[in-house]
Amino acid sequence: MSDTGEIPKNYDPLEVEERWLGIWKEENYYFDRNSSKPRFIIDTPPPYPTGNFHIGNAFNWCYIDFIARYKRMNGYNVMFPQGWDCHGLPTEVKVEETHGITKNDVPRTEFREMCRELTLENIEKMRKSMRRCGFSNDWSNEYITMLPEYYGKTQLSFLRMFENGDVYQSEHPVNFCTRCETAIAFAEVSYEDRTTKLNFFDFDGVEIATTRPELLAACVAVAVHPDDNRYSEISGKTLKVPIFGHGVKVIEDEAVDPSFGSGAVMICTFGDKQDVHWWKKHNLDLRKAIDLKGRMTAIAGPYAGMTSQECRNGILSEMAEKGILKRQEDLEQRVGACWRCKTPIEILSERQWFVKVHNDEILKAADKIRWTPEHMKMRLENWASQMEWDWCISRQRIFATPIPVWFCNKCGEVMLPDEEDLPVDPTVDRPKRPCPKCGCTDFSGETDVLDTWMDSSISVLNITGWDGKSVPEYFPAQIRPQGHDIIRTWAFYTILRAGALTGGGHPWDEILVNGMVLGDDGFKMSKSRGNIIVPEEVLSKHGADAFRQWSASGAATGQDIVFSWNDVIAAARFQTKMWNITRFVIMHLDKAEEGMIADRPTVLSDRWLMAKLSSAISEVTESMDSYQYDRAVKTIREFAREIFADNYIEMVKGRLYGSGEGKESALFALKTSVDALCRMLAPITPFFAEECYKHLTGGKESVHERTWVDYEYSDSDAEVQGDLLVRVVSEVRRYKHDEGFALNAPLGHIVVYSPYEINDGGDASSTLNADVEWKCEKPELIKSVSDVRFNFGLIGPKFRKQANAYMNAIRALTEDEKITPPRTVIMDGVETEVLENSFEPVYSYSVAGEKVDLLTLTDDVILTVQKKE
Ligand SMILES: [Zn+2]
Ligand SMILES: [Zn+2]
Repeated sequence: MSDTGEIPKNYDPLEVEERWLGIWKEENYYFDRNSSKPRFIIDTPPPYPTGNFHIGNAFNWCYIDFIARYKRMNGYNVMFPQGWDCHGLPTEVKVEETHGITKNDVPRTEFREMCRELTLENIEKMRKSMRRCGFSNDWSNEYITMLPEYYGKTQLSFLRMFENGDVYQSEHPVNFCTRCETAIAFAEVSYEDRTTKLNFFDFDGVEIATTRPELLAACVAVAVHPDDNRYSEISGKTLKVPIFGHGVKVIEDEAVDPSFGSGAVMICTFGDKQDVHWWKKHNLDLRKAIDLKGRMTAIAGPYAGMTSQECRNGILSEMAEKGILKRQEDLEQRVGACWRCKTPIEILSERQWFVKVHNDEILKAADKIRWTPEHMKMRLENWASQMEWDWCISRQRIFATPIPVWFCNKCGEVMLPDEEDLPVDPTVDRPKRPCPKCGCTDFSGETDVLDTWMDSSISVLNITGWDGKSVPEYFPAQIRPQGHDIIRTWAFYTILRAGALTGGGHPWDEILVNGMVLGDDGFKMSKSRGNIIVPEEVLSKHGADAFRQWSASGAATGQDIVFSWNDVIAAARFQTKMWNITRFVIMHLDKAEEGMIADRPTVLSDRWLMAKLSSAISEVTESMDSYQYDRAVKTIREFAREIFADNYIEMVKGRLYGSGEGKESALFALKTSVDALCRMLAPITPFFAEECYKHLTGGKESVHERTWVDYEYSDSDAEVQGDLLVRVVSEVRRYKHDEGFALNAPLGHIVVYSPYEINDGGDASSTLNADVEWKCEKPELIKSVSDVRFNFGLIGPKFRKQANAYMNAIRALTEDEKITPPRTVIMDGVETEVLENSFEPVYSYSVAGEKVDLLTLTDDVILTVQKKE
């Protein structure tokens, strides 16, 4: 008897999970820097600390935890770090709300401190949720991007790339959110469809169509296609801009679409990306009509200070008044918007910091990485190939990593801090030396801060031990798990930065791209749809393991997964089933005396089970190796439910309850199966597997300290014959049911005729409560027609009152006639036609003079049943 007490009848996931959380030690999951084991470093996504570990996070982390636990069981020294990507606008907005201030009401340092406090609270909330899910994070490798030890590295990476010439500043048009008052990168622009008005108006005698009349003050040229004869007269001439009166040239450009609008377009700085192209190509003036807050500038004259919307309305009515607005048409348009606040972006030209994008190098590095699923690589390739501008990394915000730069107030020289002084806040700290160019000691600190992707894109360098000097000790990491929604940001930027900072290295051997979690209605979860499920709700009802099992089983890797309560319930039910199996097995193992468990299977059904187990193990192993968790869970469930519980356990009960031969072999098969199932379930349902394993081993061992299951057994005879045995048992059970026998009632004598010599150790006899004999020969059957079966549906309507007479006439036929009916019979002395399909012969069989029932399984396997009288 084990020292863990009786096994409770019911499995209570909530009690079990809470208990193990109190017992497990975090240190067991620490990466060991002195280990000689092969290392496996996971570049985990650092979530944004909103305080809410949402279901998409939880789903992603399940996958990461499956990997970490599986690799540990396979002998790897695993690092499953936990990062927090802290900086960013949502926290600033939250702090403004909570404290009832705007960011400019308090000093920058004070505002940052408020953001830090809120972030730390949120991180603690999320840590709690993660622990409750049973994730085996390595908390000794936690990093928080807002803390000095991390953002010092972000600043160091900035300095390194500045020295290499990969970081530069320039006045260049960038995407700008006037609500967030900051530049944003292309990757942060989301596109939305909307209907807008295309306004046709008279532009100094030329008809022009525009969707942005408010930019008229920023008009710097009118462009036409060189082959457009309508405009050959005016090409090269100067036109007067309506309302504002400044002169602009008419230029020719191949990119003008003569079929759009009137074929003449006005170029403004800047209506869209195309304007930027033309502006650069034709070296046009820069006229800034919109400022960083989205207000019209002084060049907009009477419209200065208005929002662009107000200005648009004003200009359109002025055009109408002046009689130059010809007509308006609806136009379907895709508009770029800020991904956070959905405000349409403006393209504004200001001094910004940029990182050079070397697309070729990024694509080369991507080729060295193994992508799962493979097609996700294309998303990165497509994105890289359409990148035309460098990555704008400066932001006009506060809660972020400061850009470690000062400017000399006299000569404008850029001053950098010494590496050992990092991190610095240039708005507070001062350079140590005077300006090397002019000797001046008067400096201004850069107030712009870094894009948060500058922090998170060095996560892999941080965890692999980067010190700024050389390629990190543990670089590259083995795997990067992440969602497909951040391929063009986090994956792209990480590859870019790892390459730039390690001299062309690729950040990971492998990238695993996960899908998103959709609501149970199949749509993206959102407040407005009311389809949000929080992990806590699932956990408090069914426990973490059921949630984890759902994550594993719900979809193929990379595919979006639809949340389904039914699937969670099915997962919980499987645990109940497995619990009952485990209890049954442990009851028998506990009763077994010392030395009563064999060291290998000897009886057919045991050998059969071990062969099935062995192939289930190799399938699960293959699935785990290729991140196909849905396939792994399916295989485990099928083996446990169908093969082990429904077929095997039913068959082996006779030997288990008896004391005869073959019990030792059965105990071996039971123990080996439960042990293997626990170990295969350990990465997916860690609490459940641990609880079962505790009872199986008498509390001596933790399943999470065991190696991955490696039981191998091959026995093709046992597989073929065992399959037949299972088939025979189920056919005879069905027969018993059809014949009105109780399942455990004695049946009689059964002979199975098959092409194999089979010794089932008495399993079929005890399972069926019959005397089952296996013969490797063909039976000498005598077949005769014993009766006829009538089709009353045909006979009744046709013969009505004469039905009995018809049936008597048929019964009177000879045996041969019953098989091949004559055309007519004599019925009450009258010759009557035999109705087609109105009856069929019923055969009976006998062997050696004894009447038997015949069950045909296949062409070469038949059973005879001689029922007990
Ligand atoms: Zn915004
Ligand atoms: Zn200077």
